[in-house]
Amino acid sequence: MTANTAPDLLDLPPLGAGHFARIEDKVAALMRTRETVVTMQGEALLPLEACIRSAVRPGSTALNVITGPYGETFGGWLRSCGAEVITVTAPFSGAVTPEQVAEALRAHPAIDFVSLVHAEAATGNTNPVAGIAEVVREHGALLMLDAVASVGAEPLLTDEWGVDLCVIGGQKAMAGPAGVSVVSVSARAWERIAANEQAPRRSYLSLLDWKERWIDGGRAALPHAPAQLEMLALEQAADRVERAGLDAVIARHRAAAAATRAGVRVLGGVTPYVVRDEDAAPVATTLRAPEGTDARDIVAAALAADACVPVQAAGGALAKEMVRVNHYGLEADREVVLATVSALAEGLRALGVPVAEPGEAVVAAGKAWDAVIEG
Ligand SMILES: *Cc1c(COP(=O)(O)O)cnc(C)c1O
Repeated sequence: MTANTAPDLLDLPPLGAGHFARIEDKVAALMRTRETVVTMQGEALLPLEACIRSAVRPGSTALNVITGPYGETFGGWLRSCGAEVITVTAPFSGAVTPEQVAEALRAHPAIDFVSLVHAEAATGNTNPVAGIAEVVREHGALLMLDAVASVGAEPLLTDEWGVDLCVIGGQKAMAGPAGVSVVSVSARAWERIAANEQAPRRSYLSLLDWKERWIDGGRAALPHAPAQLEMLALEQAADRVERAGLDAVIARHRAAAAATRAGVRVLGGVTPYVVRDEDAAPVATTLRAPEGTDARDIVAAALAADACVPVQAAGGALAKEMVRVNHYGLEADREVVLATVSALAEGLRALGVPVAEPGEAVVAAGKAWDAVIEG
């Protein structure tokens, strides 16, 4: 930017209440909800924590479904609110089933809150929310869903499924900003929150503040200065998804997962960490490093072959065994996915891992991509 050019990001006209509300409505449409939504001015962990602190109190019994790293975090918040926490876990190589959840609900009739992650970007698995939500609804508990990594990447039918608290962020499949997040709150959830004396008030974590100061007033006046740049970026992300068509964006993410899995299966050496295709998240494919090989070395070798491909070693305890291939947002792209398969092939070869001809793996990936997009 030259000295005599006005800075693009500064000196914008103020973002008024009407525009803020319109942005909320665009995001709610992508979430397939007509319930009230609250926009929180922070990364998605803010509304996730706000939901738990608003809806849970001492005496609550919560079912926390752990299928990746975020579930662990939710468990800590639930306990710190005084809830008794029942945990159901699935290995990161698969998904939790509605039957498992139903069994936990039968065994613990007092469960009044269920926390669940939809797609897991970190571990590459995804959960069958429609079926799980059905059994939660029959039981009568509130359902909180972390849909940060699924919105725009796979169908997210918030109202149809009966999700009471659905949290999304713009930074994954929507290829948008990370600094504002949206949560939908059902009428049932508002009742529970209003009855909770422990629910945060006059706090950054307060959903009730937003309800009283924003929603109940007909969204006529913003309670405080909005994160304008983030909101405008969120609007552009929602508009871009709308222009491309939500179904087309979802198809691109499905194609990216199918292509990565198909390419790697032909290649050999690494294997998809998530065993069944239907349990694989559309935002990231996790790969198991071969025996005796460190996943971090595979990532380094792939990046040495092509520094631009979206591969990384998994975090924490899985760093040695799991390679994570991201394919969300603009990286859910045929060229990017084929380049990634190619870089993995070259990287594995450089490490002396026996693999198929790289070209064959790339062709298989391309065919799998086309089959999803054309099918
Ligand atoms: C990405 C993500 C979040 C938000 O966390 P960041 O890593 O800070 O973007 C929350 N939940 C899930 C399931 C996610 O994938």
